[in-house]
Amino acid sequence: MTTNPGRFAKPEVRAVSAYHLEPRDTPIKLNQNENAEGFPHALKEEIWQRVAGRDWARYPDFHLREITQRLAAHADVPEDWVLVGNGSNELLQMTLLTVVGRGDHIIVPLPTFTLYRLQSVVMGAMAHTPLMRAETNFAFPVDEVIDLAQRHDARAIVMCSPNNPTGTAYAEADIRRVIEATPGLVLLDEAYREFNRQDLCHLVRDYDNVVIFRTFSKALAMAGVRVGYCIARPEMAAEIGKVKLPYALNILSEAVTLVSLDHPELFAPTIDTAIQQRDRLLIELPRLPGLTVYPSAANFVLVHVAQGSDRAFQRLLSDGILVRDVSHYPGLSDHLRLSVGTAAENDALLESLSHFTRHPG
Ligand code: PMP
Repeated sequence: MTTNPGRFAKPEVRAVSAYHLEPRDTPIKLNQNENAEGFPHALKEEIWQRVAGRDWARYPDFHLREITQRLAAHADVPEDWVLVGNGSNELLQMTLLTVVGRGDHIIVPLPTFTLYRLQSVVMGAMAHTPLMRAETNFAFPVDEVIDLAQRHDARAIVMCSPNNPTGTAYAEADIRRVIEATPGLVLLDEAYREFNRQDLCHLVRDYDNVVIFRTFSKALAMAGVRVGYCIARPEMAAEIGKVKLPYALNILSEAVTLVSLDHPELFAPTIDTAIQQRDRLLIELPRLPGLTVYPSAANFVLVHVAQGSDRAFQRLLSDGILVRDVSHYPGLSDHLRLSVGTAAENDALLESLSHFTRHPG
């Protein structure tokens, strides 16, 4: 008799599909919203020296004091408002683990970053997923979310602004309305905030039911290093801190972060470039026949391809350009998400798409 050894997994886990990314080696990689300009080489020597000076046999500082202090100062909040994690996705998971359990309700408007819903469902929560629609440029459904949250006494509401994969930035007034009208905790993901010149940290001061999530993976060119942090009221941060594993950061990721924080001048120009290049794509892509482009405040652009997203994806791939096919996301059939590349990469992207849209066959 054959049995499935996977049967030992909880039913909630067996019911979901894994977060999946097809590894592909292409000369131009526009599928993960990374900083296309790369991490500044000039900082690497200083980082090596810092790391070489540490005793690798010893655990990192239990409280990650230095980095927490620096991030708190950077965000202009007290130290006990900040928790550092191995990427912001770790902190999102830990916060969900702290807040929702079996039978609890959470509101996750879609389409958005898949991890929120996946992790909540794994924790046994009931995820309500109102749809954000192309016709409204994926506006946040404020009234529907408030209504759902109140009706189900939701323990958590997720807002990602600018939102992945739509690029939509939500108005602060809308975010405030949601925070004020819902009984639960609002998880506000600011992963792409730098591309919208946005800082919503004051909301954590104004309200006690918000946690903000930030990452070094996008604007700050450190996706491979895995560093994120969250900002919460100290009582909430302390609760999440109980759930979080100790030593989230290793001494290498800690050193990279500390040295980077000393050199904002090396990152600011790459953010300026990404914003300029995004705005250029927002102007040039809609000129191509069959492409519908939505406003974006992030370092990627969502496009609808009338000729078929699958064919466009394959054509781009054959031209050495990897983008993200998001056509399986709710409400996004025939859509692709294009990360903003360097000027030269965007030239190649536009050229390939220009050719494809004119000769899709
Ligand atoms: N939030 C959003 C909206 C994202 O798009 C991502 C990564 N794609 C993350 C969080 C996770 O980022 P990281 O774990 O690298 O900090």
